[in-house]
Amino acid sequence: MRVVVIGAGVVGASIAFRLAQAGAEVTVLDAGRIGGGTSSVSFAWLNSASGHVPEAYHALRIASMVAHRETWEAFGRPAWFHPSGSLEWVAPEKRAAQAGNIARLLARGYAVEWITREAALAREPDLDPAAIGDAPVAWFPDEGWLDPVPCAGAMLRAARALGAVLREDARVLAIEASGGRVGGVRLADGTRIPADRVVNCAGRWADAIAEDPDPRMQPVRDMMAGAARLFLALRGVEAEAVRIGARPMPKDGLSAVGPMPRMEGYYLAVTHSGVTLSAILGRLVAEEVALDRISAALEPFRPARFFN
Ligand SMILES: Cc1cc2nc3c(=O)[nH]c(=O)nc-3n(C[C@H](O)[C@H](O)[C@H](O)COP(=O)(O)OP(=O)(O)OC[C@H]3O[C@@H](n4cnc5c(N)ncnc54)[C@H](O)[C@@H]3O)c2cc1C
Repeated sequence: MRVVVIGAGVVGASIAFRLAQAGAEVTVLDAGRIGGGTSSVSFAWLNSASGHVPEAYHALRIASMVAHRETWEAFGRPAWFHPSGSLEWVAPEKRAAQAGNIARLLARGYAVEWITREAALAREPDLDPAAIGDAPVAWFPDEGWLDPVPCAGAMLRAARALGAVLREDARVLAIEASGGRVGGVRLADGTRIPADRVVNCAGRWADAIAEDPDPRMQPVRDMMAGAARLFLALRGVEAEAVRIGARPMPKDGLSAVGPMPRMEGYYLAVTHSGVTLSAILGRLVAEEVALDRISAALEPFRPARFFN
């Protein structure tokens, strides 16, 4: 089966690797370079720390945190995965909401516990103790963060070792179809690439940023001031450079993963929290696309819900 994956971000790279593992003949096309889209400007926090999201979405996120850890082990514990855990404390007026959220997470079995300020400082010794004050501190041991660009690079190297082809500077202009079935894609330079299935992982393409990023922008100064309140060593340090990212956010805030209605062979994988979700989406999407093995875990997230 010939599969074209559009987009070499953290989501497309993970899916391409798992498709190649499943035996598909994979071509990955990116208009720019590996990880050069939203994946390069992400906070990249691996978590499911909101107790308010639907249960199916929470479960998918947790499955992906587990899958990230397994991938990290399988790849020999590379430096792009950081199982650091995370700490959370909030301003007094937000503490009731925080306590409610943590109670909901505990009821769902999420790994979180209240720890003392001393325990928090032992984990993060550079923090200014005054910044925590008397706030209760929550500790999330299973969370962490990812370096999305090297992770995407590693996934694509592994995919290429299995025969996948990667083309950068290859912008897809059109999906070609006949009789309601995908036949391939057409690139900006006119090249046509035939395919039995096309997986769109182009994220939310941010071509309309209104303001040029500048280290003197007020939100950047506010962010630096916030960081300097936590870490004494950052006092007086100014931002050197700024990048702006647009979040790929389907209308209801959840993922859009699955076949596109009315065009057989055309599949969508676009999501916010794509860093957290990339590991599990790689596995489940590859199974659906290459092996026609339908995943119950993805059913609540089908793009068809936007077409009714
Ligand atoms: C400020 C910010 C903070 C975030 N924090 C987190 C977080 O803490 N945790 C988390 O899990 N998620 C977070 N996210 C979301 C997460 O970063 C994204 O969901 C994820 O990076 C999406 O990855 P992707 O591979 O789908 O998209 P992208 O990384 O954008 O990749 C899409 C690729 O498609 C290519 N492309 C686009 N159009 C075409 C075309 N026509 N032809 C060929 N190629 C094309 C682009 O060049 C790009 O490389 C954050 C996002 C932002 C903006």
